[in-house]
Amino acid sequence: MRVAVDLLTFPFISGRHALDFVGTVGKRGSADIERLQTADDLARWSEEAGLGRSIADDADLEAARRLREALYSLVLSTLGDDPARPVDVAVVNEFASVETAAPSLGLRSGTIYRKDSAAPASAVLAVVARDGIDLLTGPDAALIRDCEDPTCTLLFVDTSRSHRRRWCSMNRCGARAKMRTLRST
Ligand SMILES: [Zn+2]
Repeated sequence: MRVAVDLLTFPFISGRHALDFVGTVGKRGSADIERLQTADDLARWSEEAGLGRSIADDADLEAARRLREALYSLVLSTLGDDPARPVDVAVVNEFASVETAAPSLGLRSGTIYRKDSAAPASAVLAVVARDGIDLLTGPDAALIRDCEDPTCTLLFVDTSRSHRRRWCSMNRCGARAKMRTLRST
């Protein structure tokens, strides 16, 4: 199946690294769009997520997907009635226990800059796993929502003042819903 290019664009709409990472699979349960198709995709996600450059290989890609699905399953357990599974808890803990990369300053002719050396993918996944732990056990857990579009499965933290955000984003699903309403009236 050919997937349009824009469907493979990583969404960063959730407000949390952990949920953005879960969103690297689109339209779960229907089209199942896998946006982490190669190790390079994983490295690109890390950079676009603002987590710095990283080096990823095929084993990292497989590991990343394992962490992602564990996070997804745990988030679902907070949204629905299914109890959280010990296996998913163990996976997230395993990834979170890895050391993260320390940021460092460089100095050139009296001017400081941020040294941007590429981190191993495992360090990036550790940041994502730790964010997942903070998310699932912090105040944001109660604000996790599922986009109301019937085929979109993106998750986000509803930080809107009224707590009535319905769509992953107005550009994606909000606009489509508006069009549907206009057409049906
Ligand atoms: Zn959506």
